[in-house]
Amino acid sequence: MVVGAGLAGLVAAYEAQRAGLRVLVLDQENRANLGGQAFWSLGGLFYVDSPEQRIMGVHDSEELAWRDWENSARYDDTPNDTWPRRWGREYVRFATHEKRRYLRSLGLRVLPTVGWAERGSGDASGHGNSVPRFHLTWGTGPEIVRVFLDPLLEAEKAGRVEFRFRHRVDGLTTVDGRVTGVSGALLDPCDDLPRGVASPREVVGTFTLRADATVVASGGIGGNHDLVRRSWPTDRWGECPEEMVAGVPAHVDGRMIGITQAAGANVVNTDRMWHYPEGMANWDPIWPGHGIRIIPGPSAMWFDAEGTRLPTSVFPGSDNLAAVSHLGRTGHGYSWFVLTKEIADKEFIFSGSEQNPDLTDKEVRKLLSKILPGTHVAVRNFMDHGEDWVIADTLEELVEGMNGLVGPDRPQVDPARLRRQIEDRDSQLDNRFSKDIQVNYIRTARSFLGDRIVRCAPPHRFLDGRHGPLIAVRLRMLTRKTLGGIETDLSGRCLRPDGSVFPGLYAAGEAAGFGGGGMHGVNALEGTFLGGCVHSGRRVGEALGRELGGRSR
Ligand SMILES: Cc1cc2nc3c(=O)[nH]c(=O)nc-3n(C[C@H](O)[C@H](O)[C@H](O)COP(=O)(O)OP(=O)(O)OC[C@H]3O[C@@H](n4cnc5c(N)ncnc54)[C@H](O)[C@@H]3O)c2cc1C
Repeated sequence: MVVGAGLAGLVAAYEAQRAGLRVLVLDQENRANLGGQAFWSLGGLFYVDSPEQRIMGVHDSEELAWRDWENSARYDDTPNDTWPRRWGREYVRFATHEKRRYLRSLGLRVLPTVGWAERGSGDASGHGNSVPRFHLTWGTGPEIVRVFLDPLLEAEKAGRVEFRFRHRVDGLTTVDGRVTGVSGALLDPCDDLPRGVASPREVVGTFTLRADATVVASGGIGGNHDLVRRSWPTDRWGECPEEMVAGVPAHVDGRMIGITQAAGANVVNTDRMWHYPEGMANWDPIWPGHGIRIIPGPSAMWFDAEGTRLPTSVFPGSDNLAAVSHLGRTGHGYSWFVLTKEIADKEFIFSGSEQNPDLTDKEVRKLLSKILPGTHVAVRNFMDHGEDWVIADTLEELVEGMNGLVGPDRPQVDPARLRRQIEDRDSQLDNRFSKDIQVNYIRTARSFLGDRIVRCAPPHRFLDGRHGPLIAVRLRMLTRKTLGGIETDLSGRCLRPDGSVFPGLYAAGEAAGFGGGGMHGVNALEGTFLGGCVHSGRRVGEALGRELGGRSR
């Protein structure tokens, strides 16, 4: 029995039915939500030493990826990182060849251009990807869901797999120390409610179900801002901002992690999370407080709420959690990107399948609009309707708009000070070398073909008026991923606080910190979450096959 029909639950179910088991999948949402968060995702996948990388001239290896991973994860030498470290190592091995082969065998294809997410903090021993590894799925999140869902729907027709929706699990049943099933509430069916929309919690009945083994694949906590606040590591990131936008649907409520812990499973590293400081309100929201993350190229200038440029080691797309930590300590819950329209056209991608119809619908013609000059439809929509966007022809007008947007009770940006900082940066463009690390970085990035083609605008002066109007985007904290979670061994079996196996109980995906209770350690390399669900779901499905030996109950 699998609790959660998100990606991790689907992969575990897919592998378990392949091993000959009969599988029941429960979810608190309706059928329209099959695939959970993964459906909404951009489909970015961390592959190591892929043919796509090699065609782009990137030399990568498992050794380099593991070096990057360890330098980012910074695992503790304490028991809470024993299993996460092993899972991290296994994951990097999986991401080198096996992950691509596995997904490709199911029909999943990626784009030939490889993206460079989490470019690093400027220190070879620090966080970040030494090389581009972010492979975009042709078809984005819906395609990742499809490749597992299609065979599962066939198995459903054949009676080997059953789905039950609007079944909210509220407790695990334990007999003689073994988990034997679940109990919970039947929620109002809401069959017609569209995907992603927050569903009512009206209870219309109860249920109790038994199974030989139960898998918790219930996702993380990102949609539950109370829980995010309680878990927020103020020592590392400063105070949690008062206002945040939600980067995940409301069903990512984290309840099931607490329920699993209450039943006796160990939960570790709960203060490790992965939120983004580049969030903005969706002009066309689907779920409550719906935020969209800008996945930026390296060229926008980044200022805090008072108009002070961020340290040049924290330029857009370099080190996500360093930015979270820096901005958290400013005491203001927002910051600003300032850029030209030319940069927005070339460098802005918005995370979310619905924000990238060209990729999601697999339409080559529409995709060309991203590569060719011009403004992508998603950027145009935010320019026209985004409540966080200010567009102006002069810097003074831009600052007036920025200050008007936040109102007089928030810090007011001084136009002369902002001008000085932008002119300082612009003054570094006359030579092919400069003292500005971000400007130097842009030049380095453009020596990588992928960046040059789709992700990095030629360096230009912001204030010479030849690169379109100026744009400022107010950025807020966007909650997304949970890096800690239910502790599991390499088969995905849940562990008790004393380290012993909790019989009958498994966990996969975000609920298990993508494996082990936090395979990323304290930091992540991007594109590793979907893959973490595929990896942990697969390991659990295989382990179920071994444990239950093809028994059909
Ligand atoms: C917009 C967006 C973009 C993203 N882009 C990327 C990307 O490019 N690359 C990447 O690697 N990752 C990305 N991610 C992250 C990735 O999609 C998620 O981490 C992953 O899909 C989580 O899958 P999961 O199966 O663990 O959980 P979920 O998808 O959250 O599924 C859990 C399921 O469990 C159900 N459930 C929860 N509690 C209960 C209960 N008590 N009873 C019954 N059912 C319950 C929920 O309703 C849900 O259907 C993105 C996420 C979002 C939202």
